[in-house]
Amino acid sequence: MTTLIALLLALWPGFQTPAAPVAPPTPEYTIQAIRFGILPKVKITTLMPLAKDPNETFDIGVMVWLIRGGGKTILFDTGYHRQTPGFDRWNTQDYIRPDEAVKLAGIQPDDITDIIVSHVHWDHMGGIGLFPKANIWIQKDEYNYYTGASWQPGGKRAADKEDAMELLKRNIEGKVRLIDGDDREIFPGIRAYTGARHTYASQYIRVEGHPTFVLASDNCYLYRNMEEKSPIATFDITDRAANVAALERMIKLAGDKDHVVPGHDLLQFKKFPTEGRIARIK
Ligand SMILES: [Zn+2]
Repeated sequence: MTTLIALLLALWPGFQTPAAPVAPPTPEYTIQAIRFGILPKVKITTLMPLAKDPNETFDIGVMVWLIRGGGKTILFDTGYHRQTPGFDRWNTQDYIRPDEAVKLAGIQPDDITDIIVSHVHWDHMGGIGLFPKANIWIQKDEYNYYTGASWQPGGKRAADKEDAMELLKRNIEGKVRLIDGDDREIFPGIRAYTGARHTYASQYIRVEGHPTFVLASDNCYLYRNMEEKSPIATFDITDRAANVAALERMIKLAGDKDHVVPGHDLLQFKKFPTEGRIARIK
């Protein structure tokens, strides 16, 4: 009887079996690193606490990464602009404000549709106020800790006060999207990963494509962290092993060490075609 009904329906003009939902194709994103400043002579132990020569110093870059595709204009991290204690302490050279820096790539600040914040440190989240129209994607645990428990007695403070207030304000305005955990898709082909433990719940992203890239931010400061299997500065000293495991995982997720882009390494402006402040990663 059921077969007969199915047959009659199939013969009935206008009847169509419902099509299975088709996932939208993954866009082939472009990725650019935009350098908005240089921090000269940073002690290597800041970047690699277990470095062999603790007196070595290193010039590092401060960057944002612009990702375009699928109708989105995304910033991974936002840099900084206010005269915070960090700004003076690290003696930023060759500085332009991140909203001016993105214009060099032909983007107006209001064109940024989305910001993915790797972690709350001033040099990565301090620029969110420069892009007021963007939705902000951050790990739920990172958001909760640095707007809440970190300010309590015994909490570990890592966010600048004004940055934390701007983040809270954006949430109240309905412009924060909380990512709940590891290996989560944010946009088609762009996934967030945790476990590297730079901060309470720092995240890095994998951008699928030809080739695929992992943008590490401070979960891997330098190419040397990967090459020497040497951890970055972690939330807690006991998190170093987790960070080394995360460095290995990033390489696997990217398919190649050269397709992991570290958070402060100026070498990315040598490895990829570069004009002025902008490296074309892909
Ligand atoms: Zn940093």
